Amino acid sequence: MSVGATMDLGLSSIQEERAQRLHQESLVFFAHDHCILEDDILLMQRGGATAKQLHIGVDERLWLEPGAFAATRVPLEPNADVAADPRTSDGFLKSALIALDHVLGLAERSGGRISIALEPDDILRAKEHGAIALLVGAEGARITEYRPEVLRSLARLGLRHLQLSWATKHPLGATQSETSGAGLTTLGMEFVRELNRIGLIVDVSHLSYQSIADAVDGSSAPVLNGHTGALALNPTQPQLLPDDLIRLIASKDGVVAVHFMSQMVKPGRDQATLGQLLDQFEYLTDLVGAEHVACGPDYFSHGETLAANQGITTPFGFADGVQDVSQLSNLTRGLVVRGFTDDQVRLVLGGSLLRLFSDVRRQRSPMIAPPMGPSALPGHLTGGITPL
Ligand SMILES: [Zn+2]
Repeated sequence: MSVGATMDLGLSSIQEERAQRLHQESLVFFAHDHCILEDDILLMQRGGATAKQLHIGVDERLWLEPGAFAATRVPLEPNADVAADPRTSDGFLKSALIALDHVLGLAERSGGRISIALEPDDILRAKEHGAIALLVGAEGARITEYRPEVLRSLARLGLRHLQLSWATKHPLGATQSETSGAGLTTLGMEFVRELNRIGLIVDVSHLSYQSIADAVDGSSAPVLNGHTGALALNPTQPQLLPDDLIRLIASKDGVVAVHFMSQMVKPGRDQATLGQLLDQFEYLTDLVGAEHVACGPDYFSHGETLAANQGITTPFGFADGVQDVSQLSNLTRGLVVRGFTDDQVRLVLGGSLLRLFSDVRRQRSPMIAPPMGPSALPGHLTGGITPL
């Protein structure tokens, strides 16, 4: 069965046959997705995808409420308690738990058609049985309210990934929009170590370059940048990475996943071509090797409301040919045209990300509970009963 779209990319019949075979045989497992509805699962199946790292949506709420996104751009008072500021914490845990209930419910009701990826084997098993596996993650640490206890509880519920930062200010470190040269805070470094210890993927997207370097240095497991690209191909976007940082991530076995959104792929807000997206894959693969490259499309339902709330007139758009997950075979076809080997295609489509998840899980501590000791509960319980 051929999957996905049939855009004319000039493949010979031999290339076409190879691309279709490769796409079907490969584990398609991608990072950074916000689509949590049943219909999105059907699109994955149409696109020959097995697994995705799914955010239990926290960002969209900010974007969908008029004025909320703009409010995050207002600087905090000097010395303000960032974690206590409602713009950085209020309500995110609740909305994440509601989304998590929805995702877990999808899996529970699916009769085995959808599973939650707690371990790498869950993803391999899903591929074997033609099922879908969802690796639950979060864009930004707001859902933890910056408490390791909350992080551990979410891990017990199935969280396997945490992006330390979104675009707004937070107490773990400097974000991509900060130009002070600052990196991760002490709390940010503690979060990295705790994520390592309990076996969750550390995602460095949306952090400042110094924060990313700090996270890579401080992490004992490989780190992911789940939606980025080569700054060399689009110098207008601070979310993309300079070559030295891409090399640093790769030098510790990390992975950079390519963003599919047009204004990330290349400069300007007009729609990117599939060729421009392939340029990103080719550049990164030439720079650090396909074993450090993955897909991070950032699929989510976008539209005029969201654009208006951000004060922009042009709605978001993904690169031509991969506008939703059902079209992903066009990426495989394009990679074949660009001369990627079978192994390189398999790595980029999902092999690199699965290897990173395996490394992260292999290096974790045998239990989520922290070792007991004087610093295990630093004043967080009152009278032994009430959490503060
Ligand atoms: Zn993002």
